[in-house]
Amino acid sequence: MERLKEDHGSISLGDRDPSDPSRRAVELVQRGRMILDVAIVDLEESEAALGTYHPTSWFFRNALTETQKAWDRLVTDMGDPAVEQAIRHAPIAVLTIDIDSRRSVLLILIDGKTYRAEPVVGTALAPVQWRITRLRPPLEHGPYYVSALRDGSAQCDCGEWIFRSAGPRPGSTPPPPCKHLAALRSLGWLEEGRQRLWHENSW
Ligand SMILES: [Zn+2]
Repeated sequence: MERLKEDHGSISLGDRDPSDPSRRAVELVQRGRMILDVAIVDLEESEAALGTYHPTSWFFRNALTETQKAWDRLVTDMGDPAVEQAIRHAPIAVLTIDIDSRRSVLLILIDGKTYRAEPVVGTALAPVQWRITRLRPPLEHGPYYVSALRDGSAQCDCGEWIFRSAGPRPGSTPPPPCKHLAALRSLGWLEEGRQRLWHENSW
């Protein structure tokens, strides 16, 4: 695969048309990686709850085998460096899994790991909040909460963010975003909250 072009001054992949070949390649890899993670977790949970030889576990084992084959083919076609670059790229793919007719789960890839992202009812000081939970391996100190604050700043409660917040910064420079904050911001999910706030204030 052609190396992804994201030179300074060019349009970032996330802002390109969905038909853009480079964007589609990254989206395909990210989607494939998340589907593989879901298949692994499905089997683990089925085996833990029902046992190794239960028909449901058998079903999920076959599903995982097929998903793994598809992933391996993708890696062979694109090559390890392009795949690695795509899964580390800011999230492009958003995987929506319907639980039932009214509820669905949003999955995104952050730094190569699949996370569930859930919008949380905000507060006056933090009108936009997301709870993010890593699928595998599970977070030791999670889930994390990423918030866009009323004053326009944003924060996370992961170790990376806390470490960065504590570091020396000239003046009132905000700390560099952690990977979770950067991911949600790149999707525009923090800005959408600001739009909601703006609408609320306009009433
Ligand atoms: Zn974080």
